[in-house]
Amino acid sequence: MPPPIVVQVVVDKPLTQGFDYLWDKEMLGSRPEVGSIVEVPFGRSHLIGIVIKVSTHSEYEIEKLKGVTRVAPLPSLDPAALRLMNFASHYYVHALGETIIPTIPQMWKKPEDWEKIPKKLAADKEKKKKKSDPEFTEELIDESHLNQGQKIALEKLRTFSSDEFRAILLQGQTGSGKTAVFLNWLRGILEDTSAQVLLLVPEINLTPQLERRVRAYFPDKSMVVLHSGVSEKVRGIAWYEAMTGKAQIILGTRLAALTPMPNLRAVVVDEEHDPSYKQQDGIRYSARDLAVWRAHDLKIPILLASATPSLETWMAARAGRYEYIRLDQRAQGASLPKVHLVNTRDPQTQFSPGDLEKPKVKSLITKTLANAVSKNLEGKQQSLILINRRGYAPVLSCGACSWLSKCDQCSSYMVLHKAGALGRKSVLSCHHCGLVKIIPNHCPDCGNADLKTLGQGTQKIEDFIEEMWPSARVLRVDTDSSRKSKGAEELFQEIHGGNVDIVVGTQMIAKGHDYQNIGLVAVLDADSRLFSQDFRAAERLFAQLVQVAGRAGRSSKDGEVSGAIYIETQFPEAAVFQFLLRHDVDGFLSFTANERKEAGLPPFAYQALIHAEAKSLDKAIQFLSSLKSHLRAQGLISNGLKVYDPVPKAVMRVAGSERAQLLVESDNRKNLQETLEAIDSYLRSHSQGRISKEGRIRWLIERDPISI
Ligand code: ADP
Ligand code: ZN
Ligand code: ZN
Repeated sequence: MPPPIVVQVVVDKPLTQGFDYLWDKEMLGSRPEVGSIVEVPFGRSHLIGIVIKVSTHSEYEIEKLKGVTRVAPLPSLDPAALRLMNFASHYYVHALGETIIPTIPQMWKKPEDWEKIPKKLAADKEKKKKKSDPEFTEELIDESHLNQGQKIALEKLRTFSSDEFRAILLQGQTGSGKTAVFLNWLRGILEDTSAQVLLLVPEINLTPQLERRVRAYFPDKSMVVLHSGVSEKVRGIAWYEAMTGKAQIILGTRLAALTPMPNLRAVVVDEEHDPSYKQQDGIRYSARDLAVWRAHDLKIPILLASATPSLETWMAARAGRYEYIRLDQRAQGASLPKVHLVNTRDPQTQFSPGDLEKPKVKSLITKTLANAVSKNLEGKQQSLILINRRGYAPVLSCGACSWLSKCDQCSSYMVLHKAGALGRKSVLSCHHCGLVKIIPNHCPDCGNADLKTLGQGTQKIEDFIEEMWPSARVLRVDTDSSRKSKGAEELFQEIHGGNVDIVVGTQMIAKGHDYQNIGLVAVLDADSRLFSQDFRAAERLFAQLVQVAGRAGRSSKDGEVSGAIYIETQFPEAAVFQFLLRHDVDGFLSFTANERKEAGLPPFAYQALIHAEAKSLDKAIQFLSSLKSHLRAQGLISNGLKVYDPVPKAVMRVAGSERAQLLVESDNRKNLQETLEAIDSYLRSHSQGRISKEGRIRWLIERDPISI
């Protein structure tokens, strides 16, 4: 009798070990391979698994092993993809199965449908053939159109061999032509018709513009788009085309970073500093960092593009660990917008009583800004007014007692949304747990009928703008308005089409959109993000302001639009504003680097958070305290390693659970890795999965958190 075939399989559970199964060649009709996607019996049900080892023996009794029940009609995950998953699993201290399986699209995880899939794929191919090419209206910047700076950048990129690891920072302000440069670079790489390239972008649903542009650049290349917004089936097919090497261009958000691509030759991470590259649940990876690791592993170049690089990337480029290419001019020659810091504490910036035509209207913006908007309207240019809070007002309050619209389930306030935003009625809504309530007629505590709103959101500003400039065409763009009737893309088209004079919205308007006629951008709530317990708050605010400023002052075919940005603040002297005033990105980064160095913060230290979630805060804190005591008793808290005291999270209570965290910090990556592994194995030995046996506390380890 031939020896049995035993495969080791990992499943999507927080279990560090794999499980042995028998492989019946006759029944399954194929030989097992490492990377095969299979269905296995598990407990009382069946699960999807990945084969990670093939052998002829097991540590368990062969007779007692169950058999693999089905194999997916897919090629196995290639060795490089498995190396990437292994690395991610190890680095982020997350089980291998839990790392791999969530990256496989839903469509491939339904074994009952596996038989039908080859047919579906064939049908899809037919459909694609029939579909006529969409028209491209985008202007193509070919190599011959590049300006001097772009040409030099492209030449430099071409000196890097395609079979050597290079990380390259391409730094240049918004509109300096970075995209034009990297698309021309990729064109060269794609001349090899088997080569694949990965183009990562933050939040693709907001950037169909880039998708169109890439399609227009590469009309005869097969391209797939991978992000959470595409339908399950489309995503399944896109993933299939990427993992079989059929698609040459893979454009996607962070989730695309983990897609198998057997012929990957180059990677571009656009807006590499963007926080949306960080996954915030499950395995909390950084898609950018994994992409760099992947490029290193494959010995290929990776280009990181940004107007405001992350401190990590910028320092690596300055130190020569990354190649450094800069574009210092705006491609179409437009000048940088002038920055105005409007000091809201200065009475001269404010309206005085007789200033307003309708004295009833209480101004929500400064006189300085209002005058600038009026002038911009006269000049027939669009204005963009940003406030990073959707809804009407962040809190409803009672003037008679101290009642505030707190969420029952969270330690946060419920936001007032006027009719039309989330539905036909005005409601209170919690942005953390999603709880929605009808607005009370009178105070639930004292019965007072005069409830007042505190603060302001996009809706309130929209109302105000409409009263202030009754003849202006006003459009609100936030996730509420884009979810409602029109999709975000349609709203953007309204702006592009010039059907709008004033746009009120959240940060989402500023992302990746190439507007042609914005003369003025205003930021109303910068201060709320200036002071925060999170040491990265200023870095993030600076990046957002630069990006926002980049939306103003592009030149159009009708001539140059010289833009201006107005920032209302009580603290114009703050460093982040002062560097912005001078458009000094490097100055700001170097200032921030010094601050971090003095404080011993990342990138000068490595961090991890241990999250704990329980029914009560006390329990969560106690759980983390005893973890800390354990580490101390084991002698793990020693040179270079710091373990802080457990603290409640900024939003401590969400949906009825209370949350705390423990910060672990080290000046040495390896030291941190070892500590995290020790923490993981200690917590595991006291848990079922990731829930502690005693006290039922849900825990999770997060490496390189981006907000503390
Ligand atoms: P970035 O990626 O740095 O924001 P883009 O490559 O998107 O810059 O370029 C900004 C705008 O300038 C785009 O509309 C693009 O088509 C245009 N553009 C880029 N390079 C040139 C060039 N050499 N000549 C004219 N227009 C250009
Ligand atoms: Zn009251
Ligand atoms: Zn809530």
